[in-house]
Amino acid sequence: MKYVLVIPDGCADEPQASLGGRTPLEAADIPAMDAVVAAGLVGRANHVPPHLPPGSDVANLSLLGYDPNVYFTGRAPLEAAAQGIELGPNDCAIRCNLVTIEDQTMRDFTAGHVSTEEATALLATLQTELGGTRLEFVPGVSYRNLVIYRGGETAPPFSSDTRATPPHDLTDKSVLDDYPRGPGSDLLNQLMHESVSIFADHPVNVHRRQKGLPPATNIWLWGQGRTPAVRPFAEVYGKQGAMITAVDLLRGLAALLGWRRIDVAGATGYLDTDYAAKGRAAIAALPDVDLVCVHVEAPDEASHEGRVDEKIKALEQIDRHIVAPLHEALRGQGDYRILVTPDHPTPLRTKTHSHGFVPFALAGTGVTVDTARTYSETTAGSSAVAFADGWKLMRYFLGG
Ligand SMILES: [Zn+2]
Repeated sequence: MKYVLVIPDGCADEPQASLGGRTPLEAADIPAMDAVVAAGLVGRANHVPPHLPPGSDVANLSLLGYDPNVYFTGRAPLEAAAQGIELGPNDCAIRCNLVTIEDQTMRDFTAGHVSTEEATALLATLQTELGGTRLEFVPGVSYRNLVIYRGGETAPPFSSDTRATPPHDLTDKSVLDDYPRGPGSDLLNQLMHESVSIFADHPVNVHRRQKGLPPATNIWLWGQGRTPAVRPFAEVYGKQGAMITAVDLLRGLAALLGWRRIDVAGATGYLDTDYAAKGRAAIAALPDVDLVCVHVEAPDEASHEGRVDEKIKALEQIDRHIVAPLHEALRGQGDYRILVTPDHPTPLRTKTHSHGFVPFALAGTGVTVDTARTYSETTAGSSAVAFADGWKLMRYFLGG
């Protein structure tokens, strides 16, 4: 049996006045996703327990079949795993966004999608000024970077009570009430504060201002945690997996679960990603593993930017270039199952992730066929198949 999981990140949404009361999924032309529902069923699952933040970290951990109540320790350790960074028992990874804050307002949580080259230069200066044996500033991709806290013999100051707000939750809002709080927050706030003067006249920012681009005014620290103690996916579920994604968080999850990571040229994690290349890479990977997962960040990014047209376009590209060819390839090779589902809703109205159920489409060998014919929040809402503990969906998908 071959399994394919397609994750259009954050695609679940609310009815839009601009779409005549339809959701983006309902307005988009997605015949391949509808065909999955028509050949199988539509259902809904909630991947974010009420007391945890509705991040892609929590939600994708659940989507891949691990109870976030037990295993979630923070986003940054997952991204550290993606980069092959080993964390000792007293080490913590901390997410280090490059952001644009003006007048204490979060103007841009990506610092204008600062380039990786620019980010690397800014992080190198932070390492010189603030780094050492205890703190390592590690460049990643664009605005998504890390700080590694090395505790050595001493336990790190952070705990599950440390509160740090994801900067994408603060878009266009005042940041004054959302600086880190709780154990270890003094250190986080101090580093964030010191970055302001270090960045103010940095050559990267001088150059960006000259070009009319938003400068990286601050670092924003969040997502801190130790490495989660997950058992490999093959041990828990008896299947070998492979992950196709442009996002470090998902690459890290895959690494921790013992999945193969497949790099695809042209996969950007943004609206301009090469959808067809991802579809081809997934088909090429099918013979080698039991389960191929294709994650696409674009619908989530479109929501963060409040762009309904881009969200619909992303869904249509995923449908045409990923779901359609994969479903066809699966049908041509024997027993299979295909699951299409986002991790969490990202409503255009709020431009940020939310709690709540997301719709999923499931078809293939042995899957009960229901009467639904389209993939949407509405059809999922009236389905009898619902998982309040979203992490239990994986075993249902695998037929166990
Ligand atoms: Zn997400």
